[in-house]
Amino acid sequence: MSIDGHATAEVGAVRLANYVGGAWRPADGVDTLDDVDPVSGETVALVPLSGARQVRKAVEAARAAQPEWRAVPPQRRARVVLALREQLLRRREELVALVSADMGKTLADADGEVGRGIESVESAAAIPHLLKGETLEGVAAGVDVELVRQPVGVVAAITPFNFPAMIPLWFLPYAIACGNSFLLKPSEQDPRPAALIVEMVDAIEEIPPGVVNLVHGGRDAVTAILEDPGIDAVSFVGRAETARIVAEGAVRTGKRVQALGGAKNSLVVMPDADLDQAAPAIMGSAFGAAGQRCLAGSACVVVGDAERRAEVGRALVAAASELAVGPGDEPATDVCPMVSAAAREKVAEAIGRGEHDGAELLLDGRGDGGPAGTLLGPTIAVAEPESELARDELFGPLLTLVEAPDLDAALEFLNASRYGNAGAIFTGSGEAAREYRYGAEVGMLGVNVGVPAPVAWFPFAGWKDSCDGDLHANGTDAVDFYTRKKVVTSRW
Ligand code: NAD
Repeated sequence: MSIDGHATAEVGAVRLANYVGGAWRPADGVDTLDDVDPVSGETVALVPLSGARQVRKAVEAARAAQPEWRAVPPQRRARVVLALREQLLRRREELVALVSADMGKTLADADGEVGRGIESVESAAAIPHLLKGETLEGVAAGVDVELVRQPVGVVAAITPFNFPAMIPLWFLPYAIACGNSFLLKPSEQDPRPAALIVEMVDAIEEIPPGVVNLVHGGRDAVTAILEDPGIDAVSFVGRAETARIVAEGAVRTGKRVQALGGAKNSLVVMPDADLDQAAPAIMGSAFGAAGQRCLAGSACVVVGDAERRAEVGRALVAAASELAVGPGDEPATDVCPMVSAAAREKVAEAIGRGEHDGAELLLDGRGDGGPAGTLLGPTIAVAEPESELARDELFGPLLTLVEAPDLDAALEFLNASRYGNAGAIFTGSGEAAREYRYGAEVGMLGVNVGVPAPVAWFPFAGWKDSCDGDLHANGTDAVDFYTRKKVVTSRW
């Protein structure tokens, strides 16, 4: 039960190892956390809860490697990123299976996640273009100005459980393509896909030891990252509360930070929306990955009169009742298990409170939680706009319907949210879509698209409490985040 290893085990539960300075190293002398199979409830890996000592070792390795790595020409760093793409393509099935096994999502969803991660790698492969600077000739007699981009130095990424492969891949390829060295601290709930990605990095000879490092752990590791003076920038994705802790901690120690937080995304259904088209899109958005996506539509604002509201409610309940709840590796499954029994309990309890406080449950998915206590069926409630069910991120297969007489009222509801990650409108009207696009205070919008996840060439653009910091993940924002600008004024 305590074999040292990394991503995968032949037998029993592996005690995961950190990857520091180009080698797998056991994190000795620290406690471990059980990484639990969301389907069976069995422990599949022991996650070392690294602390300041392990983080320091990784930072030392990263610092030592960075000057030489920075000197590698950008086009060669781009080739290294392409080599990672080759590894990901070659071992895609293995990674997809591990994402599904560790986090719980369906194989189709895991495949989509890995595909999105590969797109981030492809986007970062354009680094020679992306790093090009600017010049302005002749700002005064004989004087020219040029702007060059240089790497920040050593950068760390702290990632959440819900996209255990894609989110590490939002950061790793851009960070190293820009000439930084990198330290990853994946979620302690499902860290094995990240370890497999680092195995792939390990197989790429052109990546020198110390350029990519992996440290397993939880809060103590995060605290150590925030306090370590050898780290120059921190990328974070997780709950809004943790994002704020990370943003404040990073600023206190003078680090650059981007901290992407939680979400409560609203889907607006206009009176003219085609429900045959909207209902399946809303199902995918609300119940895909059991609602554990930062782009999940978890509130649905139904615009129209009482008759229309009843019609929309019936259509959504009919579609949700067709969804199969079960293990992620069963092809028939639509709604996968939640990541842990505790996560399931938290959502089930909130549904109970909502019911007690007057919410009407059109569909109640609380039933048998399955062998690991992680199954929760799709649940649809009608609740008041200021209720917990309508306002709080509960991160489960729960869709809360809210009523609005018109689009202005719908916008008022969604703009009153503390979050501003994403939203979508379902309508047949270009005018309504345009008004929604103009007025919605969210960074990622769908028009007749339920999960408006930007492709990697665009930023993952949450607003308000969904992102602390100015620069987002992916696209040119990633390059801005992972480089510092230097402006040179020369007279010859
Ligand atoms: P989380 O905040 O619990 O954990 C994220 C990371 O922070 C983990 O690596 C964890 O070890 C660490 N952490 C947790 N609590 C901490 C604390 N108190 N102090 C220091 N570090 C701590 O998030 P999660 O539950 O793993 O992920 C789900 C959340 O992530 C949801 O809120 C979801 O909306 C959000 N999310 C946001 C985006 C986005 O782009 N905005 C994308 C994916 C997920």
